[in-house]
Amino acid sequence: MAEQKRDYYEVLGIDRNADDAAIKKAYRVLAKKYHPDVNPGDAEAEKKFKEASEAYAVLSDPEKRRQYDQFGHSAFEGGFGGGGFDFNDIDLDSLFGGFFGDLFGGGRSSRSRAGNSPMKGANLRTSVRITFEEAVFGCKKEIELTVKETCKTCNGSGAKPGTSPETCSTCKGSGQIFVTGQMFFGGTTRSLQVCPDCQGTGKIIREKCVDCRGTGYIPMRKRYSADIPAGIDNGQSYRMPGLGEPGINGRPRGDVLVEVIVGRHPIFQRQDFDIYSSVTLSYAVAALGGEIFIDTVDGKVIYDVKPGTQTDTRVRLRGKGVPSWRNKDVRGDHYVTLVVQVPDKLKPEAKELLRQFDEMTGDTLNAVKNATASDGDGDGRDKDPRDGRKKKFWK
Ligand SMILES: [Zn+2]
Ligand SMILES: [Zn+2]
Repeated sequence: MAEQKRDYYEVLGIDRNADDAAIKKAYRVLAKKYHPDVNPGDAEAEKKFKEASEAYAVLSDPEKRRQYDQFGHSAFEGGFGGGGFDFNDIDLDSLFGGFFGDLFGGGRSSRSRAGNSPMKGANLRTSVRITFEEAVFGCKKEIELTVKETCKTCNGSGAKPGTSPETCSTCKGSGQIFVTGQMFFGGTTRSLQVCPDCQGTGKIIREKCVDCRGTGYIPMRKRYSADIPAGIDNGQSYRMPGLGEPGINGRPRGDVLVEVIVGRHPIFQRQDFDIYSSVTLSYAVAALGGEIFIDTVDGKVIYDVKPGTQTDTRVRLRGKGVPSWRNKDVRGDHYVTLVVQVPDKLKPEAKELLRQFDEMTGDTLNAVKNATASDGDGDGRDKDPRDGRKKKFWK
């Protein structure tokens, strides 16, 4: 383990009994303060942001919070692959459900950039539909995207071949200029703004490359194969690093985030890494015990029903659930509800046998009749069970 991890409550500066609203409020304050968009290039702020995000991810989830309260950081060392949370694998926007969109107003991609300072390219988003089984076991999917490729004619400079871009004289190549403003209470302010002459690029192109119209990039339709990991769930995003929009001033491209939309399954439902389904069994199997087939994502399995099983009994098929996308070898369970079926189309012989069976096992078919037969008022209306009940309870 690298360094000592701080307590999550301490990170967020909250009480151990803090409610959801307090957790969210504390995180919002820290996220606003330390978000990389607000502190470009500040490694310490980024570290603090990640620390707060991790604390929030755990404490805002009741189940994870319970585990953390019980076991501390070690609660997540086994199941999450040994290294705690790796935020490079998780799309924060999808993790927090659009949380960052409203936090910074209009989403992260729309922020204004400071001049031509080096910056990683923007992320591209797309989505893909997969089946329940594909989500469970992982799959390869073709993704088609329009990606900006470096223009071959000008090698990305945007200038007509044979010419080259000139350094912008207004901002001297920095892409930003100081603007002096008048304050309401007197005095002046100086604020940095994007250079209007070069739009922040720091360069002026006198003669534009005709192929890319001076942008340096050409939009191209490209196909990629996405390796969707086993265990991914509906609404989660799979990250394809370095395939997004080009970076600025030599910084790497952004990523492609593929949101996964998982189709419904006719019999299986999923909750985190567990699968739920129900299976019917006959009265005979429920009473006497016996083997039944149960459908799982691994195919049919044979299950040995215990004698005397009641309807709605839930059984667990250990390790037949969804693999964790952090560690394929760790799988959830499959919970099966056993539903005892009452026969509704019986042949006369079978009905007769069932009557005989009932006589032997408590005579429930005649329970009311037997209980009211000797009420002794002699009105001769004993045979009407409602009448009998009336006499018994209302007399
Ligand atoms: Zn070009
Ligand atoms: Zn300029």
